[in-house]
Amino acid sequence: MKAICKSRPAPGLEAVEVEEQAVGPGEVKLQVERGSVCGTDLHIHRWDAWAQSRIQAPRIIGHEFCGTVIELGEGVEGLQVGDFVASESHIVDPASPDYRSGLGHVDRTTKILGVDVDGGFRPRVVIPALNARPTRDSVPRSVAALQDALGNAVHTVMDGEVKDRAILITGLGPIGLFAAAICLALGARRVAATEVSAYRMDLARRLGDVHLIDPRQADAEARLAELEPDGWDAVLEMSGRPEALALGLRRLRPGGRISMLGLYPDAEVSLALNDAIFKGARLQGIVGRRLWQTWHQMDWLLTEKGLDVSPIITHELPAAEFQEAFQILDRGEAGKIVLDFTDFD
Ligand code: ZN
Repeated sequence: MKAICKSRPAPGLEAVEVEEQAVGPGEVKLQVERGSVCGTDLHIHRWDAWAQSRIQAPRIIGHEFCGTVIELGEGVEGLQVGDFVASESHIVDPASPDYRSGLGHVDRTTKILGVDVDGGFRPRVVIPALNARPTRDSVPRSVAALQDALGNAVHTVMDGEVKDRAILITGLGPIGLFAAAICLALGARRVAATEVSAYRMDLARRLGDVHLIDPRQADAEARLAELEPDGWDAVLEMSGRPEALALGLRRLRPGGRISMLGLYPDAEVSLALNDAIFKGARLQGIVGRRLWQTWHQMDWLLTEKGLDVSPIITHELPAAEFQEAFQILDRGEAGKIVLDFTDFD
C-alpha cells in the first residue's frame, strides 16, 4: 500500500510503497477514511529547522485522521471491529504517573504520531487503542478527521468561562478560527479577533458575528477598548506574536485570563508582568488536549451544541493530490485541507 512519507532528510514529501503493519497487543488497525493536513505537516514538508531537529526520515506523516476499526489486538477493551474513530496524536504510556494523575496532555512519555513514530496518511494504520477515539456517525467524516486540531481549540476556549463573556482571540489560523466557532456555540457575549490576513478574516465572517481587527491599524487598540471599555474577560493567544500577547494583557479586564496556545519563535518573550500581577490575571499555557476531558467536551459541542466548523474546511481532495494540497497550504490560501484516503491504495 502507499503512504505519504518524508522519505529523505530534504524538503518535500513522496508517495511510497509501505508494508502492511501487524497488530500488536493493545493496538487496533484502522481503515483510514480522511486525513486532515496540519501546520506541523507543512513544517515537515518544508524541512525547516524544527523539522530537521525532530524528524527521523523515513517517516510516514499524518496525525489528524479518522477511520473504521478493522482489527483488534490482544487485550483491547472498549472498541469493536466496525467502530468509527478519530486519532489522538499524543501517544502516552497509560502506566505513567503524569497520565494517571490527569496530566496526560503534558505527559513526559509523549510520542507524537506522524512526528516521532509513523503516522496515518495511508489507507490502513495500526495505532494504540487508547489513541483511537470513538466518534459518532453523525459527525461528518471531514470534521471527524480534524478533531485532534479542533481539540486544541476546545482546550484553549474551555480553559475558563465563556458563556456571556467577552472573548478576544489573537490570531485566526485554523485553531483560532475553530476557537471563534466554539466561543459562538458556547454563547459568548462578544467575540473579537485580531488578524492580518484578509483571507482568514473572510473565513471568520462565515462563522458568524466576530469583530475583526487588523492589529497593524493605528486604531486597533482603541477599537478593542471601545468594544469592551472594562476590558476583555479572556484572551486566547493563538498568534505566537509577542506584541499580540502584550496587547491582550493591556486590554484584559482585572481578574481575566490569558490562555496561550501560540508558540513564540524566540523562546524568551518580555511582558509587563506587573500588569498581570496587579490585574490578578491568570496566564495558562495550553498544550494538546486534556486526556480525555477535551474529547468529551468536543463530542458534546459537535453533537449537542451545534458546533459547525465546516466553513473552516476550505478544500477536500483525493489523497493522491497531496502535493497540490501542500502547495495551497504553502501559499496560505486555505483553512483546513482534508484528504480522502478511500482510493489511495
Ligand atoms: Zn495537527
